[in-house]
Amino acid sequence: MARRGNSIIKGIEINEIITLLNKAYADEWLAYYQYFIEAKVIKGIMKDAAIAELTQHATDELRHANMVADRILQLGGTPLLNPKDWFTHTNCGYEEPKEFDVVQILEDSIKGEQCAISVYSNIAEITKDKDIVTYDIVSEILADEVEHEEDLQALHDDITEFIADIKKNIQ
Ligand code: FE
Ligand code: FE
Ligand code: MG
Repeated sequence: MARRGNSIIKGIEINEIITLLNKAYADEWLAYYQYFIEAKVIKGIMKDAAIAELTQHATDELRHANMVADRILQLGGTPLLNPKDWFTHTNCGYEEPKEFDVVQILEDSIKGEQCAISVYSNIAEITKDKDIVTYDIVSEILADEVEHEEDLQALHDDITEFIADIKKNIQ
């Protein structure tokens, strides 16, 4: 544990930060797996573009899990040690893909990103001016989650527009 590093944290309990970060850590692993498996099972029109995006997001979520785990350790905490704990600590849960259609998969993923944005903006608000290092880390992750939502929404809109055009042309 970084003593001097942690002595600069003011006005907030370190244990509270660790609890929030462990919840986010659970979210990241579940998001990672969700993207991983979605990229495998997805079906339908323009699926190659979606696979590229989902695979890139899986990589990003795993990188986020790394960033969050390292910060928990710096704070003197322990990242969740058992995958079973991901389900009891998660904020955003896990959206099991039930329909493998591109549009449905993208909609599930957009929901997940919107939840992640809420989680990180909440941690940013709580740590602002109190724990600068955690604030910086969660701000960086938050920017990625905002980009994720935008990428998925843009792809979703392109695909649904494309489908609407095809339907119009065959009428
Ligand atoms: Fe993430
Ligand atoms: Fe994300
Ligand atoms: Mg992307």
